[in-house]
Amino acid sequence: MRDLAVLYDRVPATRCAGTGDCCWLTDEEFDNYYATMFPLYRVEYVHIVNYVERHFSPQRRRELLSFTQERPRRCPFLGADHSCTIYPVRPLICRTYGAMNPVSIARQAMAQQGALPAAQIRAFVRREAGMVCPRVAVLEPEKVARHARMLSEGTYERELARLSAEVELADAARQQLFQRLTGWQEWPLRWSWGGFNALCFAPLAWLREHFAAYWKKAELVNGK
Ligand code: SF4
Repeated sequence: MRDLAVLYDRVPATRCAGTGDCCWLTDEEFDNYYATMFPLYRVEYVHIVNYVERHFSPQRRRELLSFTQERPRRCPFLGADHSCTIYPVRPLICRTYGAMNPVSIARQAMAQQGALPAAQIRAFVRREAGMVCPRVAVLEPEKVARHARMLSEGTYERELARLSAEVELADAARQQLFQRLTGWQEWPLRWSWGGFNALCFAPLAWLREHFAAYWKKAELVNGK
């Protein structure tokens, strides 16, 4: 997971007011198909599982690994005091939240004019504008320009996809079952905590009986 740590280190460090507002959804956000802590790349999921297995009590570990809600209103890692209980291993989406502001987004959009397709620049602006937060302070402004370039050029996504391809999610029995029930040959590249948990930790009997219906209703597999 060293490469993942190197990649995460490219994101400017931030300090958040700690209200936890971005870690749970209002009714309006939920109804408009927002999701907490998504997209979660396969390599990030395995990274968090390792942390949960090392740092949490057996009971909390059981609760977290048996959590199979695909799109929860509240992130399962949000603590009672509104802090993130997996802060050192939180995924990229949580690290990048609030790291850009309207000025740095506009500056990057201008800088990429002509170098990137217009649709890609528009997508970058739309996505980052949705993650601006006045309660987040950037502590490493010297990293912002490179971070903005990596976001707009899709470098983070490419690297996370590459690292995820090297990660085996579960054993051969689960993989065969997954292939048979879904027709997919590969594990999902991105999914939510609950979705990956269903694949990796749900009892095999549950998978055989219920996974096909769970999969049919899934809204977030590979960024759907
Ligand atoms: S992982 Fe942590 S920072 Fe990210 S949504 Fe959950 S509680 Fe919030």
